[in-house]
Amino acid sequence: MTSPTSPPARVRFAPSPTGFLHLGGARTALYDFLLARQTGGQFILRIEDTDRKRYVPGAEEDLMRSLRWLGLEWDEGPDKGGPYGPYRQSERKEIYQKYARQLVDSGQAYYCFCTPQRLAQMRKEQQARGEPPHYDGTCRLIPPEEARRRAESGEPHVIRFKTPKTGTITARDLLRGDITVENRTLDDYILVKSDGWALYHLAAMVDDHLMGITHVIRGSEWLPTFPLHAHLYRAFGWEEPVWVHLSVFLKPSGKGKMSKRDAEVFRKGHKSIFIKDLEALGYLPEAVNNWIALMGWSYDDHTEFFTMQDLIEKFDLERLKPSPAAVNFSKLDHFNGLHIRALPEADLARRLAPYFHAAGYAKVTADDLRPIVPLIQTRITTMDEAPKIAGFFFRHDVEPVPEELIAKKLDAAQSLEVARRARDVLAAVPAEAFTPENTEPPMRALVEELGLKAGQVFGVVRVAVTGQRVSPPLFETLAIVGKAKTLERMDKAIKMLEALAKKNQE
Ligand code: GLU
Repeated sequence: MTSPTSPPARVRFAPSPTGFLHLGGARTALYDFLLARQTGGQFILRIEDTDRKRYVPGAEEDLMRSLRWLGLEWDEGPDKGGPYGPYRQSERKEIYQKYARQLVDSGQAYYCFCTPQRLAQMRKEQQARGEPPHYDGTCRLIPPEEARRRAESGEPHVIRFKTPKTGTITARDLLRGDITVENRTLDDYILVKSDGWALYHLAAMVDDHLMGITHVIRGSEWLPTFPLHAHLYRAFGWEEPVWVHLSVFLKPSGKGKMSKRDAEVFRKGHKSIFIKDLEALGYLPEAVNNWIALMGWSYDDHTEFFTMQDLIEKFDLERLKPSPAAVNFSKLDHFNGLHIRALPEADLARRLAPYFHAAGYAKVTADDLRPIVPLIQTRITTMDEAPKIAGFFFRHDVEPVPEELIAKKLDAAQSLEVARRARDVLAAVPAEAFTPENTEPPMRALVEELGLKAGQVFGVVRVAVTGQRVSPPLFETLAIVGKAKTLERMDKAIKMLEALAKKNQE
């Protein structure tokens, strides 16, 4: 178990800039961050951008922005440097070549000159024989001196790992224990491509070693090549890190792995697995962290609310679960509600302001929102709901749908009477004391007098003043809107009801 007395961990998040940061990457980064903070170690951001074909412009910026939004600040990385840089693999080409040559020199890797045509032919034949595709080892047999000469003379080549062909290898994953495979089932993987760029297998191992990484936390898509990675560490004679392969994410139904296509479908339904979308959809980073922390980890069988500080204290690698985790968006809503309620009011006001701006209330400030926060804090699930239910506070005018001014079980003429009487009651309360204490009792007395239900009378006032059928609590709302505007809006509603009543008479 990790504890404050565990040695400082050096962990890295090593995304490839091939798309936006999604839940899977964010979870890896979160666990890295928690382990680093918990042990007083370092969290490193390394950009694995050697595959130029899959490079997506802007992806690196999105990764960094999304990590920062989640509060997962790294200690070393491409933008801030550090003692083990550079932290972008595209700037480390020569380092990988040097280590590849070292393996060639020690007889643990070899130059392979097979042409793409020969490899394609070989694969075809293997397929025909029903064998899994693998390199047939032809260039393993070239005498090293001859191979070196050919390579140095410029003949196109790759560098392959000379996987032992007999025996087994046992590698240890923290969650799954020892994993043993027969070496003969492993391919002679390519370490360096013909263009001189190292593949993940070599580049990541070299970097993890040189950067002093103590725990490699990564997705379980790396389990099939995990034995190769262990082989590489051992070929170099390096001490292995603790390997942790995280569980996969399943679709919300629990059936099948999340795919790129699913991700697109979610976006159409105002859900998303991309971190940048979650911000726009009104989720708090605290809630997202809480949600993803529990996709593959648990503290006990009942605690569900965690702040970042709680997570730093309580996170424990040993309690990670290897079983797949279904992505459950209603859980995210649930956590978002909990975290919205847990925020200090001033903080919530500050964080709501951008959502009001995005909804078209460009000038609304945190100070303006401060008195409104107590009215909506328990009523919103996502931050973008706030301008929908409380935007009317900032509109000069509201536009009720006239028919909505008609109270349940009443007609237009009766509702008009209700509106007029309510207006008079409110007009009698002094403007400087337009508080719930002073507006609610006479309004309740009016309800009694008219022999109606509170909902009927208050509903008319609510639609008149807010323009909507659902709003924050009525009398607190009236206090913030103020007497003058309240009466103005009541007058407008009365006119609308007069028109409706007249139409009904004709
Ligand atoms: N660049 C790899 C990826 O994005 C990193 C895997 C790892 O963490 O080692 O999948």
